[in-house]
Amino acid sequence: MTITVRPAPAKPTPKVNTAEEALRLFRPARPVRPKRPAELGTRLFAYIITQRLKGRRRFPLVTMLEPLEACNLTCEGCGRIREYEPVLHRMLSLEECLQAVEASGAPIVSIAGGEPTMYPHLPELLGELVRRKYFVFCCTNGLLLEKVMQKVPPSKYLCWVLHLDGMEEQHDRSVARRGVWRIAMRAAKTALERGYRVCSNTTLFKGSNAEDLYELFETVTQMGFEGIMLSAGYDFQMVPNQEVFLKRQESIEVFKRILAPDKVRRFRFYNNPLYLSFLRGERWYQCTAWSNPTYTILGWRKPCYPLADSHTQDVNELFSDALWEKYGVGKDPRCANCMMHCGFESATIFGALRNPRDMAAMLYGMLVNRSGIGAS
Ligand code: SF4
Ligand code: SF4
Repeated sequence: MTITVRPAPAKPTPKVNTAEEALRLFRPARPVRPKRPAELGTRLFAYIITQRLKGRRRFPLVTMLEPLEACNLTCEGCGRIREYEPVLHRMLSLEECLQAVEASGAPIVSIAGGEPTMYPHLPELLGELVRRKYFVFCCTNGLLLEKVMQKVPPSKYLCWVLHLDGMEEQHDRSVARRGVWRIAMRAAKTALERGYRVCSNTTLFKGSNAEDLYELFETVTQMGFEGIMLSAGYDFQMVPNQEVFLKRQESIEVFKRILAPDKVRRFRFYNNPLYLSFLRGERWYQCTAWSNPTYTILGWRKPCYPLADSHTQDVNELFSDALWEKYGVGKDPRCANCMMHCGFESATIFGALRNPRDMAAMLYGMLVNRSGIGAS
């Protein structure tokens, strides 16, 4: 008689849902907190003044560069992997990336996609942008970050921006794959130990849980992240499940709850205080998305990062009066729910230039509360 001994079923690993547990696992061995370079703020303000003196009404602050749209994840709320599905196999050359950055001329470059760490020329691209003294924010889901890091030295001009939508359970649900949060957190720990600047980037969707987000914010603050970037999700029409997106008033209610001053005072947000106030519904701005032109394999998205009714090879087409008569809140129905930082954080900066009290609030936030000026 043969007796089959079945192995006991493996116990599921408990999810890491508290800051205490996360810090036990991922607190960097040598807590290094690289400072946000003061040069970032001074260069940005000097650039804005120079552009205004040249008489430019509209000009870019951040070049959004998407070298490829392919990704190693399929997040539920992602518009890019769906919108660019027919060209996911294509990517920009290194020269095309550098030409786009030069054509835009903005001092800040945000590299996104798709997943930029899948771009084979990323180390050369980052090296060249750093050499030219652009401030580069490289947005990543973290899956390949540890590998790519080996080819990219730390620099004050480079910041990794890790996509983290919550603690383990919430984030893995958001990106539709188990284990991603742990890989991203391990990469963050390694990056911080090696002296890189690291930020987190959280998009809010329906169902985002305030208590879970506070655990995340506590974790990344104590790990030594440079700042927390927050944004409202955009209701990309290509996304089949539109239920995940918040309407404008719903977003405001969620942000009011999550950004209650007594709850978040100890966290270091990269977004400036005026944009956080806008998210809480305390201010109104018209969109200035021309400040974040987005270059993709098909050209510059026209008009903006979330919407592409067409693409163009000429970045200057994105600054025309005629274009912006058609887009923005109250002009195009697809703008009605949009509160994205690419359209509205820059609006707070331009608003502050016209209003000394707002400028004082922004500078106070930067100097006293160590907030940023704008999330890229
Ligand atoms: S990681 Fe980013 S690019 Fe990739 S599927 Fe998710 S949202 Fe889209
Ligand atoms: S408000 Fe409209 S034009 Fe502005 S960023 Fe949002 S979708 Fe684009």
